[in-house]
Amino acid sequence: MMEPATDKPFSYQGAAKDREDGQTVIRVFLDTKHEATCRKCGAEVEWAQVARTRKWILFNRGASSRGKTMDRDTSRDCEYLSHDDVHWNSCSAD
Ligand SMILES: [Zn+2]
Repeated sequence: MMEPATDKPFSYQGAAKDREDGQTVIRVFLDTKHEATCRKCGAEVEWAQVARTRKWILFNRGASSRGKTMDRDTSRDCEYLSHDDVHWNSCSAD
């Protein structure tokens, strides 16, 4: 399992460059992930709260994990999700 060693400076609502493959990943609290339906386009999606900013981001359903880690401040389990899986990038309503 790939685990980025440190948090890098964020460029997009809690996104960080992953050192392993250069992918932009977003660290979310694992226990905040829940399924929903996009109010704009009706797609099946998934909400998750960004650990660093506490903002909520809509991901495409089935967004694959890019690694897991534990939040240093809260000891909560976190997961890295790809920026490519953010639903707003591909929402057909826009
Ligand atoms: Zn949508």
